[in-house]
Amino acid sequence: MKGRSLLMIPGPIEFEPEVLRALGAPTTSHVAPNFIETFGNSLELMRTVWMAPTGQPFIISGSGTLAMDLAGANLIEPGDKALVVSTGYFGERYANLLSRYGAQVTIVSAEMGHVVGIDEIETVLKADQYKLLTFTHVDTSTGVRMDPQAIGALGKKYGVLTVLDGVCSVAGEEIRQEEWGLDVVLTASQKAIGVPPGLALLVASQAAMKAFHSRSTPVSNYYGDWSNWLPIMEAYEARKPSYFATPPVNHVAALEVSLEMIAAEGMEARFARHKEFADTFRSAVKGWDMSIVPREESNSANTLTAVYYPEDLDGNDFRMKVVKAGVIIAGGLLKGKPGYFRVGHMGAVNRNDIHATITAIDHALKQCRS
Ligand SMILES: *Cc1c(COP(=O)(O)O)cnc(C)c1O
Repeated sequence: MKGRSLLMIPGPIEFEPEVLRALGAPTTSHVAPNFIETFGNSLELMRTVWMAPTGQPFIISGSGTLAMDLAGANLIEPGDKALVVSTGYFGERYANLLSRYGAQVTIVSAEMGHVVGIDEIETVLKADQYKLLTFTHVDTSTGVRMDPQAIGALGKKYGVLTVLDGVCSVAGEEIRQEEWGLDVVLTASQKAIGVPPGLALLVASQAAMKAFHSRSTPVSNYYGDWSNWLPIMEAYEARKPSYFATPPVNHVAALEVSLEMIAAEGMEARFARHKEFADTFRSAVKGWDMSIVPREESNSANTLTAVYYPEDLDGNDFRMKVVKAGVIIAGGLLKGKPGYFRVGHMGAVNRNDIHATITAIDHALKQCRS
């Protein structure tokens, strides 16, 4: 018996033993030749995973919120107009963040469980000239998924930079950054990328880098300024030593291992695996006669599922019983709404994990109702 629970929340997730081994290996210098190779290779692998052959990758210590902050700090100048498409918790965060950098923010938001319609976004874009649009690909608070391809196309049509918050989707949901015309695709290590919390990751398009280079005001965030980081990313990729701020050596080593594993699985196979697991889990939910938070199955994420508690259950008691059965699941993130729970099924998760989760929930339901 391994004597541990299965971590099935929407991040952090279960990690591959190879990744954890790399994290625990002796730390080398940030300018040692083997580390320079690891960093350079990780940057190159990000282009494969993001499907962005000409994009500029960044690997920086921090969490997903830093990745959001990097896009905001480097692309917004005071007075710029930004459109935030919000489907829940993290959309609100993006609006607050962009205002800090002086953006004039317009928010279009959806009711819990709904997406913001593409037509609605287009109507707003037609009415004014925005510099930037942000949207949450998979809203972690609800499991609602937006369509990045349609939004990328709108960005191109109206000359707006598009920023995809992919913290809960990159390396799990289908994203073809360059083909779909998305300017920034950002994430954090602890979700579908499969590395313990600690890295902010993003790939910026050539258009986003051009907008950054054409700024007339300095970036007001010192640590996050791409002027500091771009030469570092370029140096590592050219396999040269460099320094701005000490990189998280062990995390980058773990990232390389995880990205190699993702690339070896292949992006198409990975998208299909996540879809299969999500379908399996959602079928079980139907069998329990419960309902998922997303109103439409087609807008339901493959990386996590949010499920309303049935009316006859005490949500906290039910969740504790699932935990006792060996599987850790998450509660809701939105306050003042009907109660729900969330199950993450992304990254290193396998079929057995999905079945173990379904069994634990089954067991808890029977206990609650006996
Ligand atoms: C988890 C998450 C974040 C925040 O990431 P942190 O690593 O917690 O800072 C942002 N956006 C989405 C969609 C997320 O799922």
